[in-house]
Amino acid sequence: MSGDLVLLPLGGVGEIGMNLYLYGFGRGARRQWIMVDCGVMFGDETTPGVELILPDISFIEQRKDDLLAIVITHAHEDHIGAVPWLAARLGAPVYATRFAAILLRHKLEELALDDVVEVRRAVPGEVIELGPFAVEYVPVTHSLPEPNALAITTAAGVVVHSGDFKVDETPTIPPSFSFHRLREIGDAGVEALICDSTNATRAGRTPSERVVAETLKRLIAAAPGRVAVTTFASHVARIKAVAEAARAAGREVVVAGWSMRRIIAAASECGLLDGSLRFLDEDAFGYLEPDKVALLCTGSQGEPRAALARIAADTHPRIALERGDTVIFSSFTIPGNEKAVISIINRLAMRGVEVITTAREAGVHASGHPMQEDLAVLYDLLRPARLIPMHGEPWHMMQQATFARQHGIAEVATIHDGRMLRIAPGPAEVVGEAPSGHWHVDGHLIVAGEGGPVKRRRKLSFVGLVALAVTLDGKGRVRAPLRIALEGVPELTADGQPMEEVLLDSADDALDGLSGAHRRDDDLVAERLRRAVRFAAKEHWGKRPVVRVLVQRL
Ligand SMILES: [Zn+2]
Ligand SMILES: [Zn+2]
Repeated sequence: MSGDLVLLPLGGVGEIGMNLYLYGFGRGARRQWIMVDCGVMFGDETTPGVELILPDISFIEQRKDDLLAIVITHAHEDHIGAVPWLAARLGAPVYATRFAAILLRHKLEELALDDVVEVRRAVPGEVIELGPFAVEYVPVTHSLPEPNALAITTAAGVVVHSGDFKVDETPTIPPSFSFHRLREIGDAGVEALICDSTNATRAGRTPSERVVAETLKRLIAAAPGRVAVTTFASHVARIKAVAEAARAAGREVVVAGWSMRRIIAAASECGLLDGSLRFLDEDAFGYLEPDKVALLCTGSQGEPRAALARIAADTHPRIALERGDTVIFSSFTIPGNEKAVISIINRLAMRGVEVITTAREAGVHASGHPMQEDLAVLYDLLRPARLIPMHGEPWHMMQQATFARQHGIAEVATIHDGRMLRIAPGPAEVVGEAPSGHWHVDGHLIVAGEGGPVKRRRKLSFVGLVALAVTLDGKGRVRAPLRIALEGVPELTADGQPMEEVLLDSADDALDGLSGAHRRDDDLVAERLRRAVRFAAKEHWGKRPVVRVLVQRL
């Protein structure tokens, strides 16, 4: 079968988070698709009430009969988090390796979707045949178990989707980075490498997990009192490093944080944690002498409901730290979380707790993403005809493009979400566009992103709300006094008058000023009163609230 291979990212290219890449093979309407990853992004103060953001998948939803599978590279939320929300709408099976499949099934069970969405086990080294695509999982190294690159073969040749990776020659949990297999794939010829850009701005080589394990071992051995380590819940290599360091120092490991306990259970099920490592639950904390405990806890990003935030605020029911204890942040702070993290560090410092971050001990954390020398290793193994940067903000992708050119890759194509790029046969060329953007998970509904409720909610958070009720009869006569309610609006004006009365007076005046004919028109009444109230608020407050007028007709 002849045709073009196209890449259409709907998330992840131009922003960090919600990775979703469509690969299509065929021509025009006869194209068939696979989806690589289906991730979420987290809301922030610009999306009040919205914690999860999904990619807009309307393009593929309209072609769901031609979507053959959702292929998951690894279990990070920015790669699997949208599966429970979107996979049921698409009807395609989801492929994942064992660890990711366990976590996915848990998520699906929570939403009672485990009978709706089919999760199929992918095994590295085996080829999955999906219509015109043959997909092989190729293990790499990253910051959680079972990260994979994908070798995708079609009649147009082989392309490699790197997934998230770093080149760790001494990983502390299996598998190893597939140097040999990637070189074989490179020997056979690679049309394109679609490659992680997260750390492309940084020269050098990302340190190995082994370095972090050694640093943690030294620090935990040297800590005088209790020692707590916070890291990403899914970072099993880090969890293992803490458990081994604790054992060497004669300390028991206590785990605080539900998400981390769930990961430990999944990792143990996959044989990634040696059965001799003991993880106690929070109740044990109170019984252990300070120099006999190492606490592993969630909350390295300052999440207010996570264990560390509650420990720092001294509101945790079972765990307390005091002067002489140590907290190690085995993590970096994701941009946007700085304020929350600093506030936790300050709370701990105020209570005399020693805090160690990468600012003091560079070796307490290592990234899971490729710096420039890691990229060079992958380029040299695969020797791709062309490179397409992904998984990054525009700056990261531009830096990878520059680095790849300097490294001798002849053709580099940069795109952003919603651009369809033909990647094989070459040269790469933009051949179409698709809608791309954000959907929001709002309560248990999926709603439009910027076009949805969040925009108004943001407005309300700045100016509050005024509601006004008017009761008129069919002839436009006022049949009940105007009623008003204020939400989030100051109570008094500068000269001490109740704001409610001032605004109500303005509405009364506006109503009096309307002729009988005008008062028979609901829309016109509402609009005139709205304007009058906003005008009066501007005069007495300096701001224009959101005003809603309800016209009742008797
Ligand atoms: Zn990842
Ligand atoms: Zn990622």
